Amino acid sequence: MLLNAYKFILDIFFPIECVGCGAEGSWLCKKCFNKLQYRQQQYCLHCKKENTFGRFCSDCGKNYALNGAWIACNYHNKIIVQLIKNFKYHFALDISIILGDFVSLFFKDLSIKSKEHSTFKTIKLRHEDKPLKILANLSNALLIPVPLHNKRKKWRGFNQAEKIAEIISNNFNIQINSKQLLRIKHKKPQVQLKEQQRKKNIQNCFKWDGNKLNNQNVILIDDIVTTGATLNECASVLKQAGAQQVWGLVIAKG
Ligand SMILES: [Zn+2]
Ligand SMILES: [Zn+2]
Repeated sequence: MLLNAYKFILDIFFPIECVGCGAEGSWLCKKCFNKLQYRQQQYCLHCKKENTFGRFCSDCGKNYALNGAWIACNYHNKIIVQLIKNFKYHFALDISIILGDFVSLFFKDLSIKSKEHSTFKTIKLRHEDKPLKILANLSNALLIPVPLHNKRKKWRGFNQAEKIAEIISNNFNIQINSKQLLRIKHKKPQVQLKEQQRKKNIQNCFKWDGNKLNNQNVILIDDIVTTGATLNECASVLKQAGAQQVWGLVIAKG
């Protein structure tokens, strides 16, 4: 109720405009949506070297529970960044559909690329460019949004990662579980911290509160990745719970 009243007042004083061209009526018009570009190349989260599928290099991956990350766009993408901000702070749930569809386009392209690479039988591919098994078998995959602490979720009304995950789940028919990975501690915001501090800050913040994951692959959904410390901590908890591979799928690199 309160949220609706708040939205109603917002709409009167600040009519919804396309963040791309200013046209009234939607957060992003069709024309501007069609102009959005997603990343064609991924990279190793540790050393930042580019590759096709966001795997860690063999050496870099040794200290990570996470298998890699798929990042839909850069933080330089002003339109997407503005949408993420609006989504978070103006309670604009409609934006989740736009962001979810954008990530879906990117994810579809990634799946197609992986399929193409699996036909390159004669060419020797680098470790980082090998096709992704997880994408070839999405029926064994589980989407899990990176959780917010309950207090924060209550304050905001929803978890933006969860909304994105629901859209991807619908678009690709992948199972979703947004109830059993819990954030049990809420620590300082990561933004102000350096990489090493981030790792420490996020330790023991998550807990798996469900049945054993029977070698299922997990795709973690979040809006922004910075060093990958949060994704990695979730991955470590999920692997202890029996997950096979754990990948991150995020809208943008912070
Ligand atoms: Zn527009
Ligand atoms: Zn690397």
